Amino acid sequence: MLDLIDSHSHLDAAEFDVDRAVVLRRARSAGVSRQIVPAVAFDTFPALRTLCTAERGLYPAYGLHPMYLAAHKPGHLQELAHWIEHERPVAVGECGLDFFVPDLDAQTQRLYFRRQLEIARDFSLPVIVHARRALDEVIVTIRQIGHLRGVVHSFSGSAEQARQLWKCGFLIGLGGPLTYARARRLREIAATMPIEFLLLETDSPDQPLHGHQGMRNEPALLAEICARVAQLRGVDPQEIAAATTANAERLFALPASGRYLQKSLDDA
Ligand SMILES: [Zn+2]
Repeated sequence: MLDLIDSHSHLDAAEFDVDRAVVLRRARSAGVSRQIVPAVAFDTFPALRTLCTAERGLYPAYGLHPMYLAAHKPGHLQELAHWIEHERPVAVGECGLDFFVPDLDAQTQRLYFRRQLEIARDFSLPVIVHARRALDEVIVTIRQIGHLRGVVHSFSGSAEQARQLWKCGFLIGLGGPLTYARARRLREIAATMPIEFLLLETDSPDQPLHGHQGMRNEPALLAEICARVAQLRGVDPQEIAAATTANAERLFALPASGRYLQKSLDDA
C-alpha cells in the first residue's frame, strides 16, 4: 500500500464534527497515515491541539488565515508567537494573501502575513501559505523577509511562478484541482516539475476532486490525487508517494516514514 502524507487538511473543521474518527480511519485505510492540519484562526488553536495530541499521525500548524480576517485581532499575532514557542508545531500557517474574496482589506492582510512570515523565520519553521490572485506579491514578500522555507498550498500559478518559488526555498502543494481535465496549465506543471518540490494535499473539506463535485472532500482521496499525478508523469503511483512523502518529511521535519516501525507498534 502507498504511504502518503496529506500536507494540507482541515480535519479540525466543523464539517468533520459528526464523523471525524471515521474519516480518519478511511484515510489510514487508503494509505494516508499522516496529515498536516493548519489552523485558520486563534480561537481554533486549542481544539486543534487536542485533536493532534489525541490521534497519531496528525501534525498541527498554527496561523491566522487571510479569509478569516474578521476574526483576527492584532493581539493574536503576539499570542501566535507565544503559542508557537510553547507548542513547537511543524509549521506556521495557514497564512497568506487572498485578493479574490471581496471585502478582505488588502493592507490588513499584508500586515498579518508579513508578521507571520517573520515569526516563521524567527522560529526557523516552515510556513504554509495561501495565495489567491496574489502569487506575485507573495513571492516578493517572501523574498523581502528572507531566510524562509515552506509551501504555497493549492498552487494555481504559472510554471515561471513555480520556478521562482523553488528558488526561494518553497515547495508547491497540488491537489483536487489537477483532477479536472480543464486544468491544463496545472497538469502540465504536475507532469514536468522537479519532483523534489512537490507536496500532495487535499485541502479537506474543500476542493473536491473531479467526480466528487459538491461533496465534502476528505484525506482518503489523496490516493486518487497521487494516482493522477503518477498517470500525468507516466510513472508508478508508488514512486510519487515515496517522493512526496519524503518531501513532506523533510519540509516539516517529521520522522522518516514509519511504515515498518508503525507496524511493529501496532503489533505490540
Ligand atoms: Zn487551507
